[in-house]
Amino acid sequence: MSYNEKMYALGSKRSVIREIFEYSKRRAAEIGTENVFDFSLGNPSVEPPCEVADALCALLTGEQSAAVHAYTSAQGAPEVRRAVADYIQTSFGVNISPDYIYMTCGAAASLCIVLRAILNPGEECVVPAPFFTEYRVFIENAGGVLVASDPLPGTFQLDLSDLAKKITPNTKCLILNSPNNPSGVVYTDETLRALCDLLKKRSAEYGHPIYLIADEPYRELVFGGVQVPYLMNYYPDTFVCYSWSKALSLPGERIGYIAVCPEMQDASELYLAVCGAGRSLGYVCAPSLFQHLIPHIIGKTVNLDIYEQNRDLIFTALTEYGFECVRPDGAFYLFVKAPGGDAAAFCEKAKKEEILVVPCDDFGVSGYVRIAYCVDRERIERSLPGFLRLAKAYALT
Ligand code: PLP
Repeated sequence: MSYNEKMYALGSKRSVIREIFEYSKRRAAEIGTENVFDFSLGNPSVEPPCEVADALCALLTGEQSAAVHAYTSAQGAPEVRRAVADYIQTSFGVNISPDYIYMTCGAAASLCIVLRAILNPGEECVVPAPFFTEYRVFIENAGGVLVASDPLPGTFQLDLSDLAKKITPNTKCLILNSPNNPSGVVYTDETLRALCDLLKKRSAEYGHPIYLIADEPYRELVFGGVQVPYLMNYYPDTFVCYSWSKALSLPGERIGYIAVCPEMQDASELYLAVCGAGRSLGYVCAPSLFQHLIPHIIGKTVNLDIYEQNRDLIFTALTEYGFECVRPDGAFYLFVKAPGGDAAAFCEKAKKEEILVVPCDDFGVSGYVRIAYCVDRERIERSLPGFLRLAKAYALT
């Protein structure tokens, strides 16, 4: 065999989201972009704040301009890691040094590195459903096994009694993503404290830590003053995987970081394992220009009101039409129960209205579809008659 079969399978079978996105491009070429209501991909639609372009121009034209294109230390430029550590300290009260920060090519790379750093073959990673579909690829590629935990029906909050069953002596870690892709749900403080208590209890019982991996590309994308607790403050065995893909609308620039909680037992060794995993995966020296941007823009976000207005518009309209939707407090996704119960069949029917949404069976919950409302408001408005016709076709209204 001239290739690795597992890799061939991954490469030849595109993710369901990418499949729809490719269809969308073909369809747009046929009938015009303005006539396709593509809600498939979580590609941010809001412009980055002007400080991003200003800082990039200054970096590119400044005296040190050659340095911004040069290799940095494998784990990231020291002054950049210092800026990230200082930000975490001031914003979340965690006393962390730059020695526990590893700059990466976005949250996906952060997750791959952390999983590779901690998992041994056959160890389990528990993932509350619904979950970002790529987790399965990342976990399996690190030699681990994904164990899904069912959410509470209706609210899609964590089901602690199901988690208590899924966490076993073979559990090495748990990935938590809040605000959540695809549900838009933000886990409550009470639930997270209870989860951390459970993890502490089980870690003590099994005699080894169960690591918590906080996947936080949507941390700032919350509406109506909802809080996203900083998990290092509740649970020391925490890795934070962060990226600026969504908060600053920079997904194509591939920039993020891993923060290893300094309170973790053997924190320095785990940080070295992160460095080793980054090295073995070829993820050393995250994009230099964008690393150097970070100290200038850390803490800034895109105009989040735009996503909140989109959320209000689409959530109100679809619930009025009779769709059953989870009210999202964050991210930019609406999780909708597929009328008729068959998500794939509903997506096909929606296609006839030129509406492209994603069936969520691969996200660990069947019978739901995801609508990524990170699109222009006007596009949402023009899609609404199509949604209304769908509601009528399913006799929802
Ligand atoms: N985690 C979740 C939950 C996501 O939704 C995404 C991207 O959509 C990622 C990780 C990967 O983000 P990044 O672009 O920073 O690699």
